[in-house]
Amino acid sequence: MKQFIYSFAFTVLAFSNVTAQKNDDVKVAIDLKTITNDKVTVTVTPPAFKTNSTTYFIPKIVPGTYSADNYGKFIENFKAYDKKGRALEVVKADDNSWKIDNAKKLVKITYEVNDTYDTEGTGAHEIFSPAGTNIVANENFVLNTHGFIGYFEDMGELPYELTITHPATLWGATSFVDTNDSNEIDVFNAPRYPEVVDHPIMYSKPDYTSFMVDGMEILISVYSPTGKVTAKDITPEMETMMRAQKRFLGAINSTKKYSVLVYLSDIEGNDAKGFGALEHTTSTTVVMPEAMPLEQLLSSLKDVVSHEFFHIVTPLSVHSKEIHFFNYNTPKMSEHLWMYEGVTEYFANLFQVNQGLITEEEFYIRMAEKVAQSKQFDETMNFTKMSKNILEAPYKDAYYNVYLKGALIAMCIDIEMRESSNGEKGILDLMQALSNEYGSNKPFNDEDLFTKITALSYPAVGEFLNTYVAGSTPIPYDEYFAKMGVTKAIVEKPGNPFLKNEQTPYVTINAAKEIVILPNIEGNTFMSSLGIQAGDALLSVNDTAYNLDNIYDLIMNSMSWKEGEPITVTIKRDEKEQVLNGKVQLPTEEIEGYQSGNDVKVQLRESWLKG
Ligand SMILES: [Zn+2]
Repeated sequence: MKQFIYSFAFTVLAFSNVTAQKNDDVKVAIDLKTITNDKVTVTVTPPAFKTNSTTYFIPKIVPGTYSADNYGKFIENFKAYDKKGRALEVVKADDNSWKIDNAKKLVKITYEVNDTYDTEGTGAHEIFSPAGTNIVANENFVLNTHGFIGYFEDMGELPYELTITHPATLWGATSFVDTNDSNEIDVFNAPRYPEVVDHPIMYSKPDYTSFMVDGMEILISVYSPTGKVTAKDITPEMETMMRAQKRFLGAINSTKKYSVLVYLSDIEGNDAKGFGALEHTTSTTVVMPEAMPLEQLLSSLKDVVSHEFFHIVTPLSVHSKEIHFFNYNTPKMSEHLWMYEGVTEYFANLFQVNQGLITEEEFYIRMAEKVAQSKQFDETMNFTKMSKNILEAPYKDAYYNVYLKGALIAMCIDIEMRESSNGEKGILDLMQALSNEYGSNKPFNDEDLFTKITALSYPAVGEFLNTYVAGSTPIPYDEYFAKMGVTKAIVEKPGNPFLKNEQTPYVTINAAKEIVILPNIEGNTFMSSLGIQAGDALLSVNDTAYNLDNIYDLIMNSMSWKEGEPITVTIKRDEKEQVLNGKVQLPTEEIEGYQSGNDVKVQLRESWLKG
């Protein structure tokens, strides 16, 4: 019904006179052809103002980042003009807003935009790369649109028309539909400002693939500075994964086109340094290091992209008013991050065991790691309170726990539901029911969610939420695993040749910039099997020389070494070089994990993990 009204309104508008339509939208022109001093010029033409003054805002915060990032700090040379081209007075109100008196005379504003990637890691800002911007003339532009385009006070609900002029050699990857035929001009329309922000665009030399999954068109676009990785290289794995995700999700379906924009950064240069991805309704922006070996990259992309893709369930289909009417400059946060991020992260793991992409044992290891890592945060911190106040201390610093404890909360709800329904129903059924109840256009009130969930599931779930999510009792994870016949055990997992517990390096750097095995350590299997000793300098591996400058390459390459592969290592011991030949023996690490046995709970567990 709603859709019908909407398309009807659209038809009327299309037939009404063109001038009337023009007067009612915000026109934005972005010039990617003329780049001066590494800055992009933006021109915004608003409709006529009826108010005496107005304020133009660039977002302080955008959905999905949960941090105040002040994108206005990257705007320079802000100017406002009347129809004769005379400058109007502008007062910069704060980092993200510009007040213009004489709004009735205002016909356009212009400003220049700096990118965020150039200054990442310098302390200038803390913007997470997938939410950031990149400007490299004739080469690459990452237009996270909120970094380039803002909104006039009270005009965020007006339609936008974006005209982007770009070099013919660059192609814009996006879920927006380009309505202009020229290969140097793209015109995109958005019904309201939040839709502008929801559509990132990446311009680069065309390297993309597309495929259909169950009626949804998936676009994969890759920017690799040296051309080392192509869209073709990553497509087969992405396709297998996304098909499995759609199979897992079943009935939930909310978008016709989904774009995966992958930016690979040069970690040694002034480039993006925060890796991961940011979700959008119809796309995701991903930033990863180009130096990563392909196999490692594929496995990271699998985890990252599957998480973002599952966001189409929540917050897209199920969200509160705080998200639906998102305030970009005076944000109000929702209480239910455990759901938006936690359920999403849990699904990104559960679907892999459900669809046979990982084993049951691997799934338990992942959950055990989440248990262990989440215990580094305050276990009594009330999760709904933390979520509501996530922009402030001390809650801010506990943000990462939404991916750990948040996912475990989702797992416990899943377990409660399986137990209460004799295996019949789980948290995916709950999310489907919530999505039917609400959907993308009908937000819920934060305070009503637990009651609604309880009504759609079981009393045990309501009790769990009140005790462990809205309360401050630490979750007794072992009790929940036990409900599925899963018990605590010491389990082995593969380790890294140079990193103990995946984080503490076995190596250091000496004055000559050489990579040296730490003195006074007990080497791991990898080292002892090759005869590498504490204090040895590691000069090369398989004919590639390594030192301080490319130590990250060594560590990243080592992540894809296979057990039993031949390996040649050149070391220096007591000033003498030696060549050591042998086979890779990967170290294993013992962790506190979980295991299942052949018990009466087998069927219940099957319905949980394979259902
Ligand atoms: Zn997320």
